[in-house]
Amino acid sequence: MSDQFEAVLTRSRCLSASTMDFRFRRVGGGAVPFEPGQFFRFTFEDQRGSFERSYSLCNFTDAAGSDMDLVISTVEGGRASELLFKSELGLKTQVNGPYGRLIIPKALPKRLFLVATSVGIAPFLPMLSVLKNRSQNVILFFGVRDRSEFLYQQELLALNWPELTLVVCYSRTVNDLESYEREGYVTAHIQSFAPNPDTDHFLICGNPNMIDDCYGQLKADGFGARQVVREKYLFATQEKPIQKPVLTDAQKALIAAKLKKHSP
Ligand SMILES: Cc1cc2nc3c(=O)[nH]c(=O)nc-3n(C[C@H](O)[C@H](O)[C@H](O)COP(=O)(O)OP(=O)(O)OC[C@H]3O[C@@H](n4cnc5c(N)ncnc54)[C@H](O)[C@@H]3O)c2cc1C
Repeated sequence: MSDQFEAVLTRSRCLSASTMDFRFRRVGGGAVPFEPGQFFRFTFEDQRGSFERSYSLCNFTDAAGSDMDLVISTVEGGRASELLFKSELGLKTQVNGPYGRLIIPKALPKRLFLVATSVGIAPFLPMLSVLKNRSQNVILFFGVRDRSEFLYQQELLALNWPELTLVVCYSRTVNDLESYEREGYVTAHIQSFAPNPDTDHFLICGNPNMIDDCYGQLKADGFGARQVVREKYLFATQEKPIQKPVLTDAQKALIAAKLKKHSP
């Protein structure tokens, strides 16, 4: 069930040259209902009028129930980027959601692979405490350009959880690699874990090309769409409209009749 409500910007922080995180708080203070991994649609207003953009919640460390944390990378000439990266606290937005199938599977697999590039890490952050509490075996791949773009580095490195393997992949040359660091795209390193379609499950998020490459490799290993759930961070112009349930006249008449029957 999706909900609609107003939220206000209460915090913004610069994380890297091209990335900021933003905290919106639900007006009225009610809890924001979502499953870790889901996204919301935000309606903003600028001089040209109102427009919508989708963002995953990255509530991770200190977010309260009515908070919605977003991590956003700036896009040159982007309408939301222009607005948000110059915004002041108090900015208002209408929020709609939650949406999305990129969630922790009900039946946990032997190994859960979380694969992200850049801000595609967002939906995985709220999953981590849940997975830690279940002592789930997790392999978290995080692809970024270089160390300056290793978002939430301190928090991710501080995760104290024996069943977690963190692999950070840099697409640019980086010196003196630590044991969790690799050079190259994430797709170049997944095979070293010998993915097994009988026991493993993948959640992949971020750059659409990376997702297609990963899925192509996994299909060749025998994986199908159910074991590889993907969330592409498409531009608004590429997104399919979200289907809101529409009632037929017959359904409306049935509901009206039932309400009439049960009204005092
Ligand atoms: C489910 C989902 C979740 C998302 N979550 C996040 C998130 O957590 N963090 C995040 O940073 N982003 C996320 N995104 C992407 C986000 O919704 C916006 O698309 C992004 O922030 C860019 O918006 P913008 O208004 O700044 O840019 P836009 O104004 O949409 O476009 C920016 C630039 O790209 C160009 N452009 C527009 N469409 C295309 C196209 N089809 N091909 C090539 N160029 C194009 C435009 O000309 C413009 O110059 C998510 C997307 C989806 C679908």
